[in-house]
Amino acid sequence: YSDDVLHVDTFTETKSISEAINKMMGRLKLLDDSREEFVSNVSHELKTPMTSMKVLADSLLEQENLPVEMYQEFMGDIAKEIDRENKIITDLLSLVKMDKKGQTLNIESININELLEQILKRLKPIAEKKNVEIVMESFRPVTAEIDETKLSLAISNLVENAVKYNHDNGWVHVSLNADHKFFYVKVEDSGIGIPKEDQAHVFERFFRVDKSHSREIGGTGLGLAIARNAVIAHRGAIKVYSEEGEGTTFTVRIPLIYTAS
Ligand code: ADP
Repeated sequence: YSDDVLHVDTFTETKSISEAINKMMGRLKLLDDSREEFVSNVSHELKTPMTSMKVLADSLLEQENLPVEMYQEFMGDIAKEIDRENKIITDLLSLVKMDKKGQTLNIESININELLEQILKRLKPIAEKKNVEIVMESFRPVTAEIDETKLSLAISNLVENAVKYNHDNGWVHVSLNADHKFFYVKVEDSGIGIPKEDQAHVFERFFRVDKSHSREIGGTGLGLAIARNAVIAHRGAIKVYSEEGEGTTFTVRIPLIYTAS
């Protein structure tokens, strides 16, 4: 009888161990696949500006006695591609830095109303170029324990997108509210909107609804992945609501008090 019990136990144990190993292998495979996809995406994104620069530089080299205006135009295009390459690298570095497990946040008590005002002030010139009006509404004074640099980056990315994917003469509303536990930032725009089927993917790295449009306006496809990472690191939540052709709203909820784990 005892042998029998032993036999059953060993059998169940072996089965559960092999199940656990299988499960782990499955996870490792997924991790490996996603890493491979990430590396291939990064290489592709970094190569695109390089290819353009090469074409531009070759055309300059091949032609003799090029009028100075043409020369200036091509050099201007090369400079733009260098800016783009730089932006991709900067975004990638901040993403990789935040991705590290156990990333340390530099938590300080910050006046969130002032933080938002600063962000909007910095983005005003971009909005003015498209005559997009940015309106800020604060329902109450909010002080919270956050990493100022990381959260600033997250909110800036949302507001910058609200301007970038807006129509000329559109608007962006940014609002701040709080209860006893959380503060809430809402970024609402009158822009082009995001198709329903794409809404679940916008926080993925390198995902862009319209690659050529996004590239044209200087997008890297990393802004929302960075924003999401920063919000999650603060134990917060970020959501998107959108109607195609009508506009988009991003909501961010962050605890007022930071808890390490
Ligand atoms: P990008 O650098 O291309 O802007 P993001 O990660 O910031 O990358 O955003 C991913 C994609 O989500 C964008 O390319 C765009 O298609 C879409 N998107 C983001 N924000 C908005 C918005 N406010 N309105 C419409 N589309 C948006």
